[in-house]
Amino acid sequence: MTAELRPLIGAHLRTGGGLEMVTVRAIEIGAEAAQIFPTSPRRWQPYRYSDAQIDSFRQSLRSGEIPLFIHSIYLINLASPDDLVHGKSVEALAHALLFGARTGARGVVTHVGSHKGTCFDIGLERTLAAVETARALAAEQAADPLPPLLLESSAGAPNSLGRTIEELGILVRELGESTGICLDSAHLFAAGYPIHQEAGLEELLERVETEVGLERLGVFHLNDSLFELGAGRDQHANLGDGYIGYEGIGRLLRHPSLEDVPFVMEIPGLEGHGPDLANVERAKRMRES
Ligand SMILES: [Zn+2]
Repeated sequence: MTAELRPLIGAHLRTGGGLEMVTVRAIEIGAEAAQIFPTSPRRWQPYRYSDAQIDSFRQSLRSGEIPLFIHSIYLINLASPDDLVHGKSVEALAHALLFGARTGARGVVTHVGSHKGTCFDIGLERTLAAVETARALAAEQAADPLPPLLLESSAGAPNSLGRTIEELGILVRELGESTGICLDSAHLFAAGYPIHQEAGLEELLERVETEVGLERLGVFHLNDSLFELGAGRDQHANLGDGYIGYEGIGRLLRHPSLEDVPFVMEIPGLEGHGPDLANVERAKRMRES
């Protein structure tokens, strides 16, 4: 085990073939943390796992010493002004939180969503209501405490909430305890944060410390970017193959403020099947050099 090395290098993994396959895949590629969807990310209807399936999954994660993160489905829009979408989003978030509690996850990552042209304040109200209801629904059914909810930085799409660290700070303060953030290197870069440069990274982390608090940074999505700084395009590249580059990614992995924050890749992989051994090895080399 390389548990003494920091930070942890993890990967978003497929759940196909059964939940325990996640642990098998993590070990195969050398991932030290895992992230999964609780159900198919482009369908509202959740998949239901039995208690036996969940128990053996938990056991496999424990024996592999692999911390788990859950990523809510893509359809969720907590800020939606549309009642139907809002209601479905509440249910999907409740399901993700409950799944997180059942699997012993360290956090449930979610995109906040879009206010669809209303305004930030209305989107904020909708988000607060959605999270409150989802937490209450999940807590009713959960035998274990709910994991923290981690709001992910957006790639800067117009009307989206969480485009800036300031917006994430407002959301986290309003949502209170058991709420944190997830930063995504590709999203930050797309939204115009020059994290590929030393000064840009320092400024970002100072802002996170002031607006959110570094202790509330629960996980860092480690993705290179296929598009240039500020392009507003969310397309992930393999580590070192994009515009953030080896140096930029390496600086993130070696930053002393981030050594306790798990990194999770959401990248195409060299063969196009998702995070792979080659990218995990690249990250491990960057972490050490
Ligand atoms: Zn991400």
